[in-house]
Order: sequence, then C-alpha cells, then structure tokens
Amino acid sequence: MSAASSEQTADRLPQKQRRVSTRLRRLSLVLLGLLGACFFATLFAGPVHDRGEGLDAKRAFGYLVKICRLGSRMSGTRGMSEQQKMIADHFNQFGAKVQFQTFDAAHPLTGSPVRMSNLIVSWHPEAKERVLLACHYDTRPYPDLDRRNPRGTFIGANDGASGVALFMELAHHMGDLESNFGVDFVFFDGEELVYGKRGKYFLGSEEFAKRYRDQPPEFRYVYGVLVDMIGDRRLNIYLEKNSLRMAPEVTRGIWKTAKRLGVREFIPRKKHEIQDDHLPLNQIAGIPTCDIIDFDYPHWHTTNDVPSSCSGTSLVKVGRVLLEWLATVE
Ligand code: ZN
Repeated sequence: MSAASSEQTADRLPQKQRRVSTRLRRLSLVLLGLLGACFFATLFAGPVHDRGEGLDAKRAFGYLVKICRLGSRMSGTRGMSEQQKMIADHFNQFGAKVQFQTFDAAHPLTGSPVRMSNLIVSWHPEAKERVLLACHYDTRPYPDLDRRNPRGTFIGANDGASGVALFMELAHHMGDLESNFGVDFVFFDGEELVYGKRGKYFLGSEEFAKRYRDQPPEFRYVYGVLVDMIGDRRLNIYLEKNSLRMAPEVTRGIWKTAKRLGVREFIPRKKHEIQDDHLPLNQIAGIPTCDIIDFDYPHWHTTNDVPSSCSGTSLVKVGRVLLEWLATVE
C-alpha cells in the first residue's frame, strides 16, 4: 500500500476512530524510540565483549571423561604415558609446539628412579614475552582420605583431569586469541607422588622452575597462572593467600576480570592458604604466579573424585576468565 492511499483511507474514517489511530501511531513511535535507545545502550554501554563465548562446556566435559577413562595417571605408570600421548596428539592437531621436559625422580617408597615428564605446549613460540598457564596432570597414588576405601583407585577427575580438560578446550580458541604475550600451557608431572600425609610434592614444577632459573631461555615468563581443582560442580574460587602475597598484580587482575564478566564463582575474599605448584614458580623461578583453586571440594582425595562430581560449565567459567584476562593483560 502506498502512502497516498493510506491517507485517503484515514480521511474517510470517523473522527473518533481517527483519534484512536493517531494515539496508536504516537504510542508506536514512543515504543520504537525506546527500542532504539535500548539498542544503542547495548551497543555502547552493554556487557563487555565475551571472548570465551565459543567455549563448549559439553566438549570440555567430554575431555575430562576421556582422561578419566585412562584410570590412574600416577607418575611413571602406563596411564600417565597414555595420557601424555593423548595430550600431545591433541595439541599437535592445533598446530601448537609440544615439548617434553624429562627427568628422573626417586620413588618415595623404593628409591628407584621414576621417569617424569613435564609437558610444554607453546602458542606463538616466537614471542619473547610469555604467560605460563599451568596445571598438574599426574594423579595421587591412593584416595587416602576415603573413609571406606583409602586403598582404592584414585581417578582424580577434579584433582588431575580438570586442568588438562580445560586446556584441551582452550586449544580450540588459542588461534583466534590476540594477546600481548605468547602463551605456554605447562602440564606438571609429580605434583603428588605422595603416600600418606607427608611427602615431597611438586617434583615437576620444582624441576621446571630450577631449569628456568639455571638455564634461562631466550624468552621471559612475565606472569604465571596455575589452575587446580577447577571442575567442581559447585565451583567456589576464593582468593588464595600465597597468590595474593607473592603475585598480587596477576591475582587481582584475574578476579577483576571475573567480576567484569559476571563470573561470580570467583569470590573476591581470601580463604585458604595453599601449597601448590605455584610456590616453586614464584620462589625458585621468580615468575609471579597465582593459583586458581577451589579448595572447598568435598571429594578431595577420595574415590568420589569422579566425573559426576564435576561439570563442564565450571571448566568453561574458568576458561572465559582466562581467555579474557589473556586478551587484556598488559
Ligand atoms: Zn591432590
């Protein structure tokens, strides 16, 4: 219908009807104006662009399940070497540079050598200033905090597989990521080849930190972020005390990023003080490194640390924060 014929139709309408139609027209103009205002508000002042939008919770959880199907991944075992092959294949597919850093450590019970390997996956290996994202990928020998079965099989879905699964998911997004830094994913071996309460933890991260200190590479790690137990279905990540003390800038930066994205699982309050792989990185290598860890996990070191206690949504929440932080950190 053309504009002229519509005016003619309006002329023929009785007065009352014409008044109603004018009101309707005004109302629709007001509504249109409001819609337009909303549109521009969203465009200019709306939620921040979310670089982690494409992260896939289902796929991330699939990786976690796949890792757990290997069974125990204790240092020096077949489960561990199968996992190493799986991880190397995965990251090679995405064109990352994959290296093993191999060393022997004495078995805590027998003293015989255990072959260990930290695995280093590099994105943009030519970049001289780098950020290190780390997790451990070995599992504890026994679920020794399990009341019923402390000598059962420990699967370590959260304590072992969660960090690996997240990094495998992040691989899908590293190609598009624009960061001021090159990024290395480092998987530490020998985090907990520990029987009972006491023992020597952090064998892999200590070896890695010593080599970085004693044989400095051509690049520099500007920051480090460790993730550990980030798959809990009920994710609560408090500020960790050692991280705040040793790497305040990176720690605050990550929690601020989470706040900006509205990821409420990062709670901006101090709670635990954790001994973890970030200690050797801070203290030996001098890389300011923060630990992202959910230490309120009821299944810690028990036979219930299985995939059903974890969720892909939790992994992806941490992934969103990391991608956004990597893209904005200076
Ligand atoms: Zn553990």
